[in-house]
Amino acid sequence: MTNGAMNTQNTQCCIVGGGPAGMMLGFLLARAGVRVVVLEKHADFLRDFRGDTVHPSTLELMYELGLLDKFLKLPHRKVDRLSLQIGEQHVRMIDLTHLPTHCKYIALMPQWDFLNFLADHGRRYKQFDLRMRAEATNLIEEGGRIVGLRANTPDGELVIRADLVVGCDGRHSTVREKAGLRSEDYGAPMDVLWFRITRRNSDDAEVFGHIEAGMMLVMLDRGDYWQCAYVIPKGGIERVKASGIEAFRNRVVELSPFLADRIGELKSFDDVKLLSVTVDRLRQWWRPGLICIGDAAHAMSPIGGVGINIAVQDAVAAANRLAAPLNAGRVTDDDLQAIQQRRTFPARLTQQIQLTMQNRIISPALQATRQPKPPVLFRLFDAFPLLRRALPLRRRFAAAWSLSRANDRMRLRRAAARFGAPRVRRALLAASG
Ligand SMILES: Cc1cc2nc3c(=O)[nH]c(=O)nc-3n(C[C@H](O)[C@H](O)[C@H](O)COP(=O)(O)OP(=O)(O)OC[C@H]3O[C@@H](n4cnc5c(N)ncnc54)[C@H](O)[C@@H]3O)c2cc1C
Repeated sequence: MTNGAMNTQNTQCCIVGGGPAGMMLGFLLARAGVRVVVLEKHADFLRDFRGDTVHPSTLELMYELGLLDKFLKLPHRKVDRLSLQIGEQHVRMIDLTHLPTHCKYIALMPQWDFLNFLADHGRRYKQFDLRMRAEATNLIEEGGRIVGLRANTPDGELVIRADLVVGCDGRHSTVREKAGLRSEDYGAPMDVLWFRITRRNSDDAEVFGHIEAGMMLVMLDRGDYWQCAYVIPKGGIERVKASGIEAFRNRVVELSPFLADRIGELKSFDDVKLLSVTVDRLRQWWRPGLICIGDAAHAMSPIGGVGINIAVQDAVAAANRLAAPLNAGRVTDDDLQAIQQRRTFPARLTQQIQLTMQNRIISPALQATRQPKPPVLFRLFDAFPLLRRALPLRRRFAAAWSLSRANDRMRLRRAAARFGAPRVRRALLAASG
């Protein structure tokens, strides 16, 4: 209910940020009968820096919500295997065809379609109030507890009082900064130059990345164009610009020769956006009356294209834990701590894998002067493809990975029982709350 003169609004939950974490949490809470306001500072979801990789875990969630058939009607491409070219060798990085999920593939779907889908389904509930062009600017604190926030909207300042504020506002989160939550920065040796080039049906669809000495290019198939991510050493943009656009075009063509006939589409560096990569994690994700999830709690590297999916899983864990207390008007610190405890293990494990890949593969390749070779494990996989299937650890990982999707305690417990290693079993049991 909005009071025109004071421009204030009361709600049970105020979510800051209309990305994957915020939109999924808003939808799930509204579906559970909670009055929820979602604030998104932009006017729409149409920004191309968002990733497009909807993983089997998120697709399985859509299935569990009864939305999968409708969701898959949106334009998308299915990718069940991905290869990387390292030097002269092609290595198969990912094979999802054996996952124990309904969709054994990644759906490459523009993220704005995914977010609009959640917005449309959220609007079916009267409790769901999505405010576009509403930017949270500050928190309201009373007696050591966060009780609401202030936001700039086209109609002036809006004051929202809420039983709970959830920061889903990404890796440059205003909420976490204003709440004084402190993070550990794990460092990222690279930045990404982001641009588009026309795609033709005759282009090789499976190879998605190419690493050579001193350079790396990842290409996402977006139907009629390739979304390209050219990886450079952190802070190296000025050096790239100093060499000029022609030198940059040549390097791209060196990595993907089939782009030679259309590389002229890059007219200048105005067609190339710099995206800075961060990997960090909050020490504590919450304060009384407030919690952060998604990138606001743990900024993910683009490696593996997994950040959207981890953010969605955070939202599911938060909704599962919070719906009942929010409906009863009694969210406790224990509820917030339980969410952090539940989600720390998947976030930490994923970031650890990303950091290992950054430090073992990407960073050495960016500094290399000689043609790089794939790490021994990938070469072994390539020489003996069955090894990939037979490796028990891989199967166990696949199971745990997909089972963490819906944060179903029973499933996590079952996965824990399947694990032999006591430390992993203990971690899974802790994560299952
Ligand atoms: C270069 C790059 C490429 C990536 N590619 C992929 C990929 O292909 N696949 C993948 O899964 N992950 C990818 N990631 C990671 C992924 O983008 C994030 O992990 C994921 O988007 C996190 O979702 P989120 O909802 O937590 O935050 P975000 O997606 O960042 O959403 C935050 C939202 O909050 C809004 N917002 C911010 N501040 C405010 C405010 N004060 N008030 C109101 N709204 C606000 C923003 O406009 C935004 O809509 C990539 C990351 C980078 C850096």
